[in-house]
Amino acid sequence: MICSLCPRACHALRTPDEGRGFCGLPSTMRIARIAPHLWEEPPVSGTRGTGAVFFSGCTLRCRFCQNAPISHRNEGKAMTCRELADSLRRLVDMGVHTISFITAAPYVEAILETLGLYRPPVPLVYNTSGYESPETLRRLEPFMDVYLPDLKHFSPSLARLCTGREDYFPVASEAILEMVRQKGDPVLDEQGILRRGVLIRHLILPGCTSDSLAVLRWIADHVPSVPVSLMQQYTPMNQVDIPGFQRSITRREYDRVRQGMLTLGLKGFYQGPTASDESFVPLFNQPESFV
Ligand code: SF4
Repeated sequence: MICSLCPRACHALRTPDEGRGFCGLPSTMRIARIAPHLWEEPPVSGTRGTGAVFFSGCTLRCRFCQNAPISHRNEGKAMTCRELADSLRRLVDMGVHTISFITAAPYVEAILETLGLYRPPVPLVYNTSGYESPETLRRLEPFMDVYLPDLKHFSPSLARLCTGREDYFPVASEAILEMVRQKGDPVLDEQGILRRGVLIRHLILPGCTSDSLAVLRWIADHVPSVPVSLMQQYTPMNQVDIPGFQRSITRREYDRVRQGMLTLGLKGFYQGPTASDESFVPLFNQPESFV
């Protein structure tokens, strides 16, 4: 295939064995973990977890990524559509509330083929950095029930520093408008599980509270009914060398952004400091990483 699935639009050749685009991924799926996962937001994980499919590779590659072995170095095992469909069936049999496709953009073709083999009878969640192309999202429209995008950096200079992509915010905000156009206001079932809708995540970064507030203001101005998951668990990882990023955020920084979110009238979730720990990184690429 000649790939333009994500906003990088490499138009690069990807064969079953090799990929020549920025992500370096072949067209065959590479996956680092398939297992129930309890640590997403309550409307996604519920009490029995989401069936999380962690795809290898990433089209953004934040410099501080906590999953760098899989996102930067593409570690994972090759899987066919049939194998993934069988794994999804096992996850459903285990009782997960939802299925989550995590950093899945480079594999949209294979995922659509997989869902043609088996469509799990639970909400399907597309979990993304937000750096997505509207054309690819439109292909997902009939299949995904829930979008779980990050909305990271408002400022082009911060985005360049963290991801190398100055265009992160205009691209991600346009993608979020497309997600909201598709799914509308959130719909929860009687167990509090999100059946349909969008939930935006935002990770507060050290020394960057003004940027966080600008992100939240955009949400309040453009998609005020979308819930926000405000995350305070930034941890310096992946030998990050961005000045000022070698520490966690302070209580004062967190309180400033949380108060801003409350003042703007945004609804959502607050993820606590307990998740600010390397032990929260799931186990990847081990025999027990796959159901
Ligand atoms: S998915 Fe990979 S090859 Fe395709 S456009 Fe994005 S970075 Fe390039």
